[in-house]
Amino acid sequence: MTKLEELIIKRIQETGPISISTFMRECLLHPKYGFYTQRDVLGSDGDFITSPEISQMFGEILGLCLAQYWIDLNRPDRFALVELGPGNGTLMLDILRAGSSVNGFIDACKIYLVEASSKLKRQQQKKLSPFNVNWITDDLLLPKIPTFFIANEFFDALPVKQYQRENDLWYEIQVGLKNAQLSLSMSQLPSNHPELETRFKDCVTGDLVEISDDALRISNLIGQIINNEGGCALIIDYGDWHSLGSTLQAVKSHKFAKIFDRPGEVDLTCHVDFEALARNSGCAYSRLTAQGVFLERLGISDRANLLLKNSKPEYKHSIISAHRRLTHPDEMGTLFKVLGLFSKDQNSPAGLIK
Ligand code: SAH
Repeated sequence: MTKLEELIIKRIQETGPISISTFMRECLLHPKYGFYTQRDVLGSDGDFITSPEISQMFGEILGLCLAQYWIDLNRPDRFALVELGPGNGTLMLDILRAGSSVNGFIDACKIYLVEASSKLKRQQQKKLSPFNVNWITDDLLLPKIPTFFIANEFFDALPVKQYQRENDLWYEIQVGLKNAQLSLSMSQLPSNHPELETRFKDCVTGDLVEISDDALRISNLIGQIINNEGGCALIIDYGDWHSLGSTLQAVKSHKFAKIFDRPGEVDLTCHVDFEALARNSGCAYSRLTAQGVFLERLGISDRANLLLKNSKPEYKHSIISAHRRLTHPDEMGTLFKVLGLFSKDQNSPAGLIK
C-alpha cells in the first residue's frame, strides 16, 4: 500500500466517501506523494510519452500555426503566449524555435506557463532558461493583450466527477471503502449540477456522465480572454466531441493499470469532453479535427522529408517512425483531436475549419 493510499483511506474512514475528482487531484498533485510531483513521468523512460516528446516536428508545426495567427492579427507588438500543463517544457521550446523564423514574433511574445507541479516547474525553468518565462495560476490573471493558449494533454489530467442517472435523478459515483479497500460506490443523496440538466435528453437510467468543473472554469476563462483581447487557443488531447460513460483510466510505465493500483504512482486521466470546453468558452470554435489531419494540413510530411534529407542515416528511421506515430490512424493520428478557440470576428487558426 502506498503512503498516499493510507492517507486517503484514513480520510474516508474519518469523513466518509470522497468525490472521484478529489481522489484524482490527490493522486496527481498531492504535494509530497502525487504522480506529477514526485516522478519523472514524461518520455520513454517515464510513464507515458506525449507528442512533443516524440518529435520536434509537433511543436514546430504548432509554433508556425501560432505565428501565422499572429500575422493574421496584423502582428500585434505585444502578445501573451500561455501554455497550460507544459510538462518538460519541450513543446514551448519547439514553438519558440519555430517562431523565431518569423520576424518580430519572439520579440512581441511574453511567455506564461500554468503548472501545478513544482518539480516540473524546475524542469521548465531549466529547459527554457534562454527566455523570460512567467508562471501563473489557472486563474489566468494576464495583461490585457492578445493571448494565444496552447494545451497538449492538459485537460485530460483535470479531475472529473462522475454522475449516474437513475430515473429523474443523478447520483454521484464516489470513492469509498469496502473491506477497508478503496472502492467505487453511489452517493446516498442525489446531486445537482447545471450541466446535468442538459444531459437528460441523451442519457437513460444507468448512463454515466463525467463533468470536470476545472475544465469548465478554465475553458470559460480562456474564452473570456480571447473574446476581450483577441487571440486563439489550440487544445490537443484525446477524447470526443460529446462524452458518455466512464473514461477514467490509469497508466503506469506505458501500460494500463487499475485506477486503485498504487495511488500516486499511476497516471489517472479522462477523455476530454470537447463539446463542453467549446460551448463553455463562449467564443468561436473550430470543428474538432483529428491530430493527424491537422498536422498533415500544416505540412508535417514536408517537414519530415526535409529532416530526412538533412539527417544522418542512423536517425532516418526515428524520423519516419515519429511521423507515423503522430499522424497515423492506428497511432495518435485519430485518437488525439485538436480544437481551436478564437474570437467571433476572426478566422480559425490555420489547419482548422470553422
Ligand atoms: N503538455 C506536456 C505535458 C502533459 S502532462 C506535453 O505534452 O508533454 C500534463 C501536464 O499538466 C503536466 O505538466 C502536469 O504537471 C500539468 N498539470 C496537471 N494538472 C494540472 C493542474 N490542475 N494545474 C496545472 N497543471 C497541471
